[in-house]
Amino acid sequence: MTELWLRVVEASQELVWVSIAFFLVSLVIKGRATSEWIKRSWGEARLNLFYYFLDLVLVVPVGALMIAGINFLILDGGLAFYTPESYDAWPPILVLLFCVATSDFIGYWRHRLLHTWALWPVHAIHHSDTEMTWTTLARFHPINRLMTTGLNAAFLSLLGVPPGFIALNGIFRHYYGYFIHADIPWSYGPLRFVLVSPIMHRWHHVREVEGSGSNFATVFALYDLAFRSFYMPPRVVPSLGITEPRFPDTWLGQTLYPFRVWAGRMRREAAEAQAAE
Ligand SMILES: [Zn+2]
Ligand SMILES: [Zn+2]
Repeated sequence: MTELWLRVVEASQELVWVSIAFFLVSLVIKGRATSEWIKRSWGEARLNLFYYFLDLVLVVPVGALMIAGINFLILDGGLAFYTPESYDAWPPILVLLFCVATSDFIGYWRHRLLHTWALWPVHAIHHSDTEMTWTTLARFHPINRLMTTGLNAAFLSLLGVPPGFIALNGIFRHYYGYFIHADIPWSYGPLRFVLVSPIMHRWHHVREVEGSGSNFATVFALYDLAFRSFYMPPRVVPSLGITEPRFPDTWLGQTLYPFRVWAGRMRREAAEAQAAE
């Protein structure tokens, strides 16, 4: 209990300073319009903060068990291709870069998988914010969150990446994730083909199909270029969100949503099979 309480206190402190940082950035970019923007986005941001704390209590402990299990299976089972010592000769910055690039590559394909018909009901929750802010990073279904944790841990363990660099990579991706979800109109100019900018990720969240089927990377836009999913036209980003009608707007409703969709699909398939007999 004490450990959980400590985690909640640390997370609250993190939220305070991240909020202040993005508030200041917003003041510089939006000026007086900041208060109007806060009023507009507060309803969704409040739900995202609820996600953030429930994640901490419900999902993080399961994720930690999952990482321990995966590490045990891969490292103690002798399945890893390399050992942490294999990286001793590398400059630390190169190990970190390798770690970020590898997990972004895994993340790119995981993200594409989440946009398939079968898994979209899980990922739709992350896309359901219509006023995307840095808090949108917290809006993920537990299945989505655990998929990210599990796949990352499995691949990085298989590559024998030293645990310290895995932790650093996690911290970097976490904060970069806040940044690309923030309402910041930066597209990085010529660097837009190398790194994912807030505008590039905003195009991933557009309601219209042409944009939402693109820009799957989190850090390196290069992956989207290489796999032909890069999309950043020189026009204003249209409205964000999803097209699903009557999408729930509560944590419980959204958490149950994929199960309801899958059950509905199974019922329809069973009825169609019965009708065909
Ligand atoms: Zn997505
Ligand atoms: Zn996103």
